Amino acid sequence: MMDNVKDKIIVITGASSGNGEAAARHLAERGAVVVLAARREDRINALRDELIAAGYRAQALPTDVADKVQVRQTVDAVVEEYGRIDVIINNAGVMPLAPLEQLKTDEWDHMIDVNLKGTLYGIAAALPHMQRQKSGHIINVSSVYGHKMGPDATVYCATKFAVRALSEGLRQEVKPYNIRTTIISPGLVATELLDHISDTTIQAQTREFATQVAIPPDSFARMVAFAINEPENVDVNEILFRPTAQP
Ligand code: NDP
Repeated sequence: MMDNVKDKIIVITGASSGNGEAAARHLAERGAVVVLAARREDRINALRDELIAAGYRAQALPTDVADKVQVRQTVDAVVEEYGRIDVIINNAGVMPLAPLEQLKTDEWDHMIDVNLKGTLYGIAAALPHMQRQKSGHIINVSSVYGHKMGPDATVYCATKFAVRALSEGLRQEVKPYNIRTTIISPGLVATELLDHISDTTIQAQTREFATQVAIPPDSFARMVAFAINEPENVDVNEILFRPTAQP
């Protein structure tokens, strides 16, 4: 069986929980070097220690993706240590759902800073290295909500539509550099994403639905690994998946 995951140097933002954590475990088990980037240092350190104890290769670099200097420093540190960066998974994200009319402008800013600017900062940090290498893979995490609007999710959807738009533009621009680009658009996955919804009614409603249909983050991990594992001349542009029971 062909293996294009083993020995790859893979930076994963938002690796401290949920989809990012699951992807880190799966990719490490498949022989990649995983670099765990998130703000909760205790969580990424614990995951790094667990993976290393199991015989895998992992490093933890505390990073706030809303800070472009920190993102660049993380990626530069990886290239300094390993000589290259093969994949960056711009996965960090937040989803504080609320109707627009509640005017939670701080939450709007937060979503734009993490989901949109954080993805752009990941691209900005990795792209110069990948252009020089003439190889690389940029994976951006959008959502089913990057394809359709959902209730109380206007700003979240706007960020995820934007992630798809910029990923497609990136795909068209980086062809001369042999860089692959993939959008992963999940549906409802059981993670900590709902924990930060400040409106308690919306949180309870969303949780109830999620309890019924959400799928485990392992699916996300396998989707990411599939895109990476394809041969370098195959660019998996987008993977859209959701629980079978999700409309
Ligand atoms: P989690 O809440 O479990 O994980 C979110 C991750 O993002 C955490 O590791 C968190 O780490 C990180 N993060 C948040 N803010 C920042 C920041 N400023 N800097 C660095 N890292 C940050 O949720 P998911 O695993 O579900 O979310 C991962 C991605 O999947 C998101 O982009 C989300 O939009 C997307 N997605 C999820 C779906 C779902 O149903 N779960 C559906 C569709 C898309 P820390 O707090 O330690 O910084």
